[in-house]
Amino acid sequence: MDVSTLTICEAASGLRAKAFSSVELTGAVLDAIEKRDAELNAYLSVDAEGALRQAAGADAARAAGADGDLLGVPVAIKDLINVEGQPCTCASKQLLGYVSPYDATVSAKLRRAGAIFAGRTNMDEFAMGSSTEASAFKVTRNPHDLSRVPGGSSGGSAAAVAGGEAIAALGTDTGGSIRQPASFCGCVGLKPSYGRVSRYGVTAYASSLDQVGPMTRTVEDAAVLLQQLAGCDARDGTTLDLPVPDYRAALRGGLKGLKIGLPKEYYIDGADREVMACVRRAVDACAAAGAEIVEVSLPHTEYAIAVYYIVATAEASANLARFDGVRYGHRAANPRSVFELYAKSRAEGLGTEVKRRIILGTYVLSSGYYEAYYGRAQKVRTLVRKDYAEAFKTCDVLMTPVAPTAAYRIGEACDDPLKMYLGDIFTVPANLAGICGISVPCGATAAGLPVGLQLLGPAFGEGTILRAAYAYEQEVRA
Ligand code: GLN
Repeated sequence: MDVSTLTICEAASGLRAKAFSSVELTGAVLDAIEKRDAELNAYLSVDAEGALRQAAGADAARAAGADGDLLGVPVAIKDLINVEGQPCTCASKQLLGYVSPYDATVSAKLRRAGAIFAGRTNMDEFAMGSSTEASAFKVTRNPHDLSRVPGGSSGGSAAAVAGGEAIAALGTDTGGSIRQPASFCGCVGLKPSYGRVSRYGVTAYASSLDQVGPMTRTVEDAAVLLQQLAGCDARDGTTLDLPVPDYRAALRGGLKGLKIGLPKEYYIDGADREVMACVRRAVDACAAAGAEIVEVSLPHTEYAIAVYYIVATAEASANLARFDGVRYGHRAANPRSVFELYAKSRAEGLGTEVKRRIILGTYVLSSGYYEAYYGRAQKVRTLVRKDYAEAFKTCDVLMTPVAPTAAYRIGEACDDPLKMYLGDIFTVPANLAGICGISVPCGATAAGLPVGLQLLGPAFGEGTILRAAYAYEQEVRA
């Protein structure tokens, strides 16, 4: 067994055929982490003992007749999703030393399915960033070029999957944090529709945008993981009580008869030429394979970044108020007053980017400015959502680049927040609209850096984007 390329589906058949046990499989993943992570820095913590104990339990359950695609399969978890008994730092000094007393709903679901929790992956602090450089603890490296970023904020999950240190992982996507690192690292990343997957027990960044989703080596694995994650949860009132389709069955439809829309606002000058060439080649190949290509327009795309950085920071400023040294988080020593306790605890515990966003978010919500910024942003958000609704009247999926560039060098963009924010142009609109999207590898630049193809589908259209992505991956790209 070679865990550096093994998929969930291959692991499951190996376990079923008794080619290896879960203890052996988990041991091999832990060995890979041991060998490679000093270089990649994909993990913030590894729970070798707990994982091997869980693996022994999975082997015993299988011997007693249990089965399932995830039974005995190790999965890496982004460090803002609670897993009982494991740290959950959100890559912030604020939560150093915190150990989760409970499972998030997604963790509980994976636990019930028999998945093994091998370790916690690095991220931008509180998921605010696009390169994982904003982690308070370490800088994760891109497995394809160690001088480059893995993308973010789920950069640790992407680097672990692409770098041979995890078979699959969970990430979260508020404005692209699953799809963009998947694109930069060359793996598959799926952001489910808003309301498809529970966020209970997932540290909130921007509650009207956040979603949890799979990061995997294949589209089929993304379908298998999503199958376990999806569904209504009484503990998250934003989840919808809609039936969960059989996503694996949905893979088989092929490209014939599918209408693929190309939003002209996503094919712009200013994006990297090599990246655009990879995306165009993928689109042409899909057309040759029988898909019908139509041009569509999403006219409010140019406002999406501005709207996103108002809505997301406003919500973040409210969500992060709880990290005050009293209710949650780091508590400063010897404060002279309650005010000083709050101020010092937050000043010491939070990083620069998080502070920048709390300040911006508090400003756009303040009386006198609320209507001018937050109120108007909400209105434009509705226009962005309507753009997609219009587009999906004439096509089944949209095909676009994931990011305007491939992975950039560590240190290259982190001094210029605006430049970093602009890199989110192709991913944030889907979060604003609540629709689903997937990033699937579609080639590489001359320097060998992976490029992702983004497929967007209507809300609760995961089956359709999985079908198109699977057909592209299996029939067209090969
Ligand atoms: N890069 C975006 C941001 O910094 C998206 C982050 C995310 O999806 N968590 O907010």
